[in-house]
This record gives sequence, C-alpha cells and structure tokens, in this order.
Amino acid sequence: KINSPLEAYKYLPQTNCGECGEPTCMAFASKLIDRSGKTSDCPPLVKEKKYAKKLKELDIILAPEIRQVTIGVGEKAVNIGGDDVLYRHKLTFFNKTKLFFDVSDNLEEAALIERVNKIADFKKFYVGRNLLLDGVAIKATSNDPAKFAAAVKKVAEIGLPMIFCSFNPAVLKAGLEVAKDKNPLLYAANKDNWKEVGELALEYKVPVVVSAFNDLDALKTLAKTFAESGIQDIVLDPGTYPSGKGLKDSFNNFLKIRRAGIMGDTEIAYPIMALPLTAWMAGIADPVSASYWETVIASVFTIRYGDIMILHSLEPYAALPEMHLAETIYTDPRTPVSVDGGMYKVGEPDKDSPVFFTTNFALTYYTVESDISANGIVCWLLAVDTDGIGVEASVAGGQLTSAKVKDAFDKAGFDLNKDTNHHTLIIPGLSARLQGDLEDTLGANVKVGPMDSGRIPGWIEKNWPP
Ligand code: SF4
Repeated sequence: KINSPLEAYKYLPQTNCGECGEPTCMAFASKLIDRSGKTSDCPPLVKEKKYAKKLKELDIILAPEIRQVTIGVGEKAVNIGGDDVLYRHKLTFFNKTKLFFDVSDNLEEAALIERVNKIADFKKFYVGRNLLLDGVAIKATSNDPAKFAAAVKKVAEIGLPMIFCSFNPAVLKAGLEVAKDKNPLLYAANKDNWKEVGELALEYKVPVVVSAFNDLDALKTLAKTFAESGIQDIVLDPGTYPSGKGLKDSFNNFLKIRRAGIMGDTEIAYPIMALPLTAWMAGIADPVSASYWETVIASVFTIRYGDIMILHSLEPYAALPEMHLAETIYTDPRTPVSVDGGMYKVGEPDKDSPVFFTTNFALTYYTVESDISANGIVCWLLAVDTDGIGVEASVAGGQLTSAKVKDAFDKAGFDLNKDTNHHTLIIPGLSARLQGDLEDTLGANVKVGPMDSGRIPGWIEKNWPP
C-alpha cells in the first residue's frame, strides 16, 4: 500500500502527455493517491504492452484496505466496502451503506411483486437528486428449492441487485440456476454448510457472506478458508443482536473487524453486513416498535462500519431516516455538495417577477428553492458559485462578493435593468453588508430580504412589488 504521489509516479509512463486530462504524470499520481482518479484513466498505461507489469503492480498497491465487492450487474449494481480509513475526515468513505429490503419466497406472486415494486419505487428527493433503496433480499422461508427459484425469477425481472438468503445449499443453487448472470450475494456460509456454499460461490462466481454469530475467531477462519480456496468477494456477518445488552457486543465486533482490516489484517479486510431486521425477531409484537428498533440498529451500524444491511420496514418513518443518515455519513468531506452556478427559474417568471440570489451550496440552494416554490412564488433565482459554501460563511470568507454576484449575472446573460421592469435584486439577509457595494456594482436597486428563507413568503407579501 502506498500513500505518496511520488511512489505512484514511479509506476506511470512519466511522459506528461496529458491524455488523462492532467498536465503532468505527477498531478495524475496525486489523483491516484486521493482516489479521485483510476489507473484506467491513463491511456498509455492501459494500452501499451510495455507498461502491463507496472499497471498490474500499481493496481495491487493502490487497492483499498477493505476489499470492494460488487453485487448485481449493470447500472443498478452496487459496490460495498472499498474503504481506506476508520474516520471519514482522514480521507472520505467511499461506498455508502447499501440498504436491501427483504421479501419472503412464500408470498403469493401478486404480493411478492407488489412488495418488490415498492422497494424499487421508494424514493426521496434530497439536495437535487433522488435517494433510492439498493436491492432485495429474498428469504427462503419455504426452504423449498423450486419455490425459492420461482421467487428469484420474479424478483430478477425488476432488475435490482439481490441477496439470496438461505443456509440450505440446495435452495441457493436453485436460485443461482435461474439468475446465473445477475451476480447475487449469497447469504450465508456458516460452520455447517461452508463447504457446499463455498463451492457454489466458486462455481457461479458470485460474492458470498460468511456468518458466525458473535464469534470473531470462527468468522475469520471461515473468511480465511474461503480466500485460500480462491473466493475473493467475501462479506462478513458477525451477527446483529436485536436490542439491549447484545447490541453492544455486535457494535464492538464491527469496530474490531474494521479496525483490524484498516490496520492491515488482510484476512478480515472485507465489507461487513448488519441485519437490523433482527428487530422483528426479538418478540416485539407492535410493528411500530419493531420498526423503531430496526431504525435504531440501522443507525448504529451506518455510523460504525455496516457496509450493507438487510431491513424489513418500508414505512417512511423508518426508511427515510436510514437513507438520510447513510447519505450524510458518506458525503465526501473534501467536496462541498453544490449545484451548478447560474440563473434558475422557479415557475415561469417574467419581467415583473422578483429576482433572488443565494449561493450554490446545495443544501442552501434547495432550501431556498423549496421555500419559494412551496409557497407559489414565481421568480428568478441566481445561484452564485461560492465553491459550495453557504451565504454567511462565504461572505465572511470572501467567496461571496459584489463582483462575484455581478459575474454570475453576466455569465447567466441576465441584466437586471434590461430583463426586469423593477430593476431590483433581493439579497439574503445574511449578506446584508453587501447591499451598498452591490448597488454600485450592478447599477440596480438592492433590497435586503429575510435572514431565513422560510420567511420569504411573508417578506414578499409586505415588500413586493417594490
Ligand atoms: Fe502521464 Fe498517463 Fe497522464 Fe499521460 S495520461 S500525463 S502518461 S499519467
């Protein structure tokens, strides 16, 4: 494993040809180290035979500490693991926790299809895009190979990545036979069935979970045995206690595994699976309480090293917090979440519509946009590129100035004096100190709006038209 661009540079062609989009091989080496670039982005390295050995070596030494495992195929395939650090601020976490929801193979066909469609269609709009659920875990409740294969066939038609859940190798094999090209994850090999399940993983070339409940030595032995037999795509299930005292043990197991993996113990450096749906098996009769505990468990293992989870409750009050938390924990701290700078329309604005600006920090932009649109205000909304920093911080840090706002108007081809009848800009209350400068720079009227975009509707009622 290497950590310095200088070391990566030794493996590159060193011709500074620029084909990778970087001016020099050294600049590209820096991208390899922070993982914003891949070796495949250097065409000479990939195409020219004389670099084949170096490419192979470089790929090995650049591989993440925790193995990255792919489940599914095509556009909807998901990657899990692939991390290099224990704490996000030390680099970033790479693959967000993947949320799979269960279906049972003993459901009637219509009910099965309805639930799988619900999983596939579940979405939440969040800072400019839809958050989605990741896949379907098919439980072989029937323990009947034919019934399981029929369920797999139906689920496979929807196209989401799948986990096959059974300790019975005959059941897993029946599922694999009808979904040979779908790259499902097998759950699971344990101390009783590991030989047969391992053979299936090898024969069908699919990833596999090794499972040992609250026994890390047994888990490591299983993973080591599989790795020695040639299985590389392994996921670890150290067991997930449903609540109370046991949950602490599960939490500690996750910490121990990930710490050992990041510190170089390759025998256990694999993605970890959490099973928050165990909350439903803990004898809690009330479904709201079971959903609550499931969400609590999912939160614990999103924060600490659960790379993939199997869940049950599709109630929005359970699933939405799980999706939001995963999104937040796995946001790359090196890159503020931003929208493209430019002029946006809210509704169909005309020359009499108000003109607002905010910064291109995604959270700010979408909060302002939704406060405006939800209240039926039709307007122009300029997103000023402040490198993704919010209004107050960018005014203080100098990323938001009157010159920057003018530049944003110019780039958008929008002139307050020609494109509006009111010649007025409404600025965020948090940028009030720019008012005078902006009036001089833009040659237009500048009104200070409210500090909080939630108050824009009330402000407009009192102050518009100007
Ligand atoms: Fe160097 Fe490869 Fe980039 Fe060319 S494409 S500059 S050889 S890293």
